[in-house]
Amino acid sequence: MTCIVCQSPLSAGLSSWHHTCRNCAYESAQLAVAINHAAEHAKIDEDARETSLKALRQESFRTIVALTRQFAAPHAHTLLDVGSAHGWFLETATGAFEAVGVEPDEAVAAKCIARGVPVRIGYFPQALADGERFDVIVFNDVIEHIPDIRSALRNCHERLSPNGTLVLNLPSSRGLFYRLSKLFARVGLRGPFDRLWQKGMPSPHVHYFNPVNLTKLVESEGFELRHNTEMEAVKVEGLWQRLTMFGNVHRVKAALQYVCIRWGLRPLTGLFPSDIIVCIYRKR
Ligand SMILES: [Zn+2]
Repeated sequence: MTCIVCQSPLSAGLSSWHHTCRNCAYESAQLAVAINHAAEHAKIDEDARETSLKALRQESFRTIVALTRQFAAPHAHTLLDVGSAHGWFLETATGAFEAVGVEPDEAVAAKCIARGVPVRIGYFPQALADGERFDVIVFNDVIEHIPDIRSALRNCHERLSPNGTLVLNLPSSRGLFYRLSKLFARVGLRGPFDRLWQKGMPSPHVHYFNPVNLTKLVESEGFELRHNTEMEAVKVEGLWQRLTMFGNVHRVKAALQYVCIRWGLRPLTGLFPSDIIVCIYRKR
């Protein structure tokens, strides 16, 4: 196996499914994707998931829309949100852009459509019309789930207008929580590490980037970096739901995690790189 960023051979990581690049620090996972498989979805309490993420997401989405407006071409008007999930980004972006989403999870997309949010069911770019282009393409917590990321980036290049803008919002391997999870995994506590890769979820992460190796990859597919920034990764509001939403979590264990994160780690988060980054690129 070779690194998708720098083509160096990958080394064994912290699990049989985890590999890392010693040259550029890219990390990869061989975890199976199972979108639309009912059994995998039944493991997640969708209501808890929605509540837990909403407060955090809506605030970061407002920031991302503002940054996109700032760094996109002044005439940029049309926006595509790939993997638009519950439609929150689309709702935030409407007003600043003419926004449309594509979402492969049929049940999630149907809920948006019922609310009047413009979403097409399917994958990017198959769900688009022939020759359809956008001024902005956004991936919120999506690009790290796509196994063939180079072909996704090529499709973005093809589907963007001249000088179009690509916005990637994704987890960072430099983040405090991810680095701590690796420390724990090394001493045999694998829970947080598996959780951050979303192992066992319908669509786990298959890549972990940092801003440098991500930019190297994206620039090699015909883009240039315009701006990158960090987002707050943990909010107290919704934290309990976030810790308990997945399967049969032990309540005492979740309570311990809550105490550690809220009063132990969260005060430290400002001192270390965040677990969430946003990178904005322009099509060359
Ligand atoms: Zn590499």
